[in-house]
Amino acid sequence: MLEALKQEVCDQNHELPRAGLVVGSGGNVSGRDPESGLVVIKPSGVKFAKLTPDTMVVVDLDGNVVEGTLRPSVDTGIHLYLYRHRPDIAGIAHTHSPYATSFAARGERIPAVLTPITHMIGRDVPCSRYATPGEVDTGAAILEAAAGGYAALVRAHGVFTMGKSAAEATAIAMYLEEAAKTTHLAMLRGPVEELSQQEIDRCYAWFRQNYGQSGSKPVSS
Ligand SMILES: [Zn+2]
Repeated sequence: MLEALKQEVCDQNHELPRAGLVVGSGGNVSGRDPESGLVVIKPSGVKFAKLTPDTMVVVDLDGNVVEGTLRPSVDTGIHLYLYRHRPDIAGIAHTHSPYATSFAARGERIPAVLTPITHMIGRDVPCSRYATPGEVDTGAAILEAAAGGYAALVRAHGVFTMGKSAAEATAIAMYLEEAAKTTHLAMLRGPVEELSQQEIDRCYAWFRQNYGQSGSKPVSS
């Protein structure tokens, strides 16, 4: 069942080590099937190189395994908590990517100083309060911090990104890490000036209209 979604979620999990966002078997991507509401997620403790679509685990929103022979990711409860509370999302990525997580280690948000990431998420990257590991407290902390947005750092832990698909959530995780790295480097040389929310809103709308092949106007450059 859900062969196309298992392929997509598997492919997006492979993107995490390729982009240098994870080590070992840490980090995970999931996707939700809009028709059935079922979620496809990475199995627990399996190295990324070993992942195939058939090793993906299908779970319902209560965490019952519907298909798959392996146990789902240890973070499955957090993903399901987010899906239950955010009907607008169909993909989640979780990493401990080092530059972004260095902000989380300090309990700091990533300020909105670069347009490539604000284009995608329309704001800074907030950092949550400290959350006890596990579904309810971590899920609640992410929801509070994200405040309807698509990304949040979890204090003392890592990065959670959300999107309309597994691919979108993974793309946000990649651009977020790039922005965290560049912002960190810039901050070493002195204070940085944050973009105004008005300018962020303008860029976000422009990007939505023009990016990719389905925008209403072609990008000129
Ligand atoms: Zn984690």
